[in-house]
Amino acid sequence: MSCKTCSAPGSGTFDRGIHPPHGKKLCEDAHIEVMPAPASVALPLLQHTGAPCQSSVQAKQSVVLGEKVASAEAFVSAAIHASVTGMVGALGVTTLPNGRHVKTIPITAQGEQLSGPALWDDIYGGQWPLDSVGKHQPADIAKAVREAGLVGLGGAAFPTHVKLAVNPSKPVDTLLLNGCECEPYLTADHRLMVEAPAPIVLGALLAAKACGAKQIFIAVEDNKPDAAKALQDAAKGTPVNVAVVKTKYPMGGERQVVPAVLKRVVPTGGLPLDVGVVVMNVATAAAVARAVVRGKPLTHRVVSVTGDGIARPKNLLVAIGTPYQALVDYCGGLKPTAARVIAGGPMMGFTLGDLATPITKGTSGIVVLTHDDIRREAETACVRCGRCVDACPLRLVPTKLAMASRHKDWDLARRYHIAACCECGSCSYVCPARIPLVQLIRVGKAGSR
Ligand code: SF4
Ligand code: SF4
Repeated sequence: MSCKTCSAPGSGTFDRGIHPPHGKKLCEDAHIEVMPAPASVALPLLQHTGAPCQSSVQAKQSVVLGEKVASAEAFVSAAIHASVTGMVGALGVTTLPNGRHVKTIPITAQGEQLSGPALWDDIYGGQWPLDSVGKHQPADIAKAVREAGLVGLGGAAFPTHVKLAVNPSKPVDTLLLNGCECEPYLTADHRLMVEAPAPIVLGALLAAKACGAKQIFIAVEDNKPDAAKALQDAAKGTPVNVAVVKTKYPMGGERQVVPAVLKRVVPTGGLPLDVGVVVMNVATAAAVARAVVRGKPLTHRVVSVTGDGIARPKNLLVAIGTPYQALVDYCGGLKPTAARVIAGGPMMGFTLGDLATPITKGTSGIVVLTHDDIRREAETACVRCGRCVDACPLRLVPTKLAMASRHKDWDLARRYHIAACCECGSCSYVCPARIPLVQLIRVGKAGSR
């Protein structure tokens, strides 16, 4: 292990993967700014993995910041709370960056809004007493997390209370917080680890208590030494260990970070839970602390607005439901060289068609690429070089999967385990023939279900 202070058994890296230019210099030293409340928000009723929520408010109803506006009836779902104080409008519809059409609750901001340093203090500032862990029972922690509508803030947006639910047939011994943030350009988690390590450590202790984990690691890539140091300082005297792992893409994937830190292999088609591990993003852990200790729901998140095509790259604390356009405007707008706006990172994100789309709980960044960034040569025939196979961290055969998808041969796609692909994009990145492998595989995954 490369971390001298950590007893984790893993080697600190994983097989295969790639080293794309990380582009993080634009924003890695940018302090998180609190963005003023937007004029309006639109809250999608499905912004998590699982069943959609049901609206619990009416048009023209007044709501206050943090009030529940949509309830989650299904177990795998997450309630939604007002991210501004204001008046509810008639239900609308939006198309999310992944192409899904979902109903939204619009809220027009009215009256005084919590903002600036007061909002920062409410969410991440103030005291986070580590001795408060003893006051909370596992079931109460899971209940508070569910009430707060928490989901994984690393991008997958899986409801957090489901991860924390104790399953006697799958006992958990380890909580692994994921602070790798391996996507190029994005720095939201990095800045949060530097600026708010205390709620992350407290959230780790609470989450471990809820799921029964006896050991706790926080994985941080070695290109973020300031984040590792801040967490180590905050974790002094606690059972939380900071594991510094090698910088490599996609280290942030569950199937990469678990073996890198713990030397355990997550089976194909399985979950970290199958090897006794719960993996949770660092920002989610901070939200767990706030939900349990302060009783506050998830209404805001940190978003990186970055890339060479944006005028002033920033890390912003922003109300969920704010339109992408408002974030872009707050960062000085698009440069004339801007060519593509991506929701998320350039490897796994989605090109955004409409900047009126609202950000959701799972939005970790907006990356604006320039014409130079996206200049690509035309696609040519596969030269059978095998680079895509060498790059795939899941040992799949991307060229076969893409071919199966092109020919709509779903049996072949399933035989080559298309469902196991995590859509990391490493294969597309290295392909000298410029074949859009991951795009084809995404189509194939949908077609072969
Ligand atoms: S096949 Fe899937 S998992 Fe493998 S490199 Fe390509 S996108 Fe990543
Ligand atoms: S990297 Fe591209 S050219 Fe090489 S084998 Fe894979 S699909 Fe073919």
